[in-house]
Amino acid sequence: MSDNCLFCKIAAGDIPAKIVFEDDRAIAFEDISPQAPLHVLVVPRKHIATLNDLQPEDTELAGHLVQVAAKIAADRGHDNSGYRTVFNCNADGGQTVFHIHLHLLAGRSLTWPPG
Ligand code: AMP
Ligand code: ZN
Repeated sequence: MSDNCLFCKIAAGDIPAKIVFEDDRAIAFEDISPQAPLHVLVVPRKHIATLNDLQPEDTELAGHLVQVAAKIAADRGHDNSGYRTVFNCNADGGQTVFHIHLHLLAGRSLTWPPG
């Protein structure tokens, strides 16, 4: 846990969120400002500030986040219609919370390229 990290506090239960999945390694909750009918953030319990800080020992954890996103998408019936997963990194990537999180967006046709 990192001091003053919003997503560490949500993972610890200190700040409320609409949790849709959790296990020993990850938690997933609804984005407070949804950009699609389904917009969930999949977050590791381990504090990792940006993708630049991923270490070789985090490889399995990163894969787990992707699989959690795919499971939520399938559970909500979006596996065939499709969905998008995004990690934003630093300023040009649009990252605003510095604890890595995988966005899962689904429920509408998403444009490409993103803004
Ligand atoms: P990013 O810009 O990629 O760092 O994404 C951060 C996301 O966190 C944004 O989509 C925000 O809407 C979302 N967010 C910020 N505060 C909260 C919160 N308290 N609960 C849920 N989502 C949040
Ligand atoms: Zn954190």
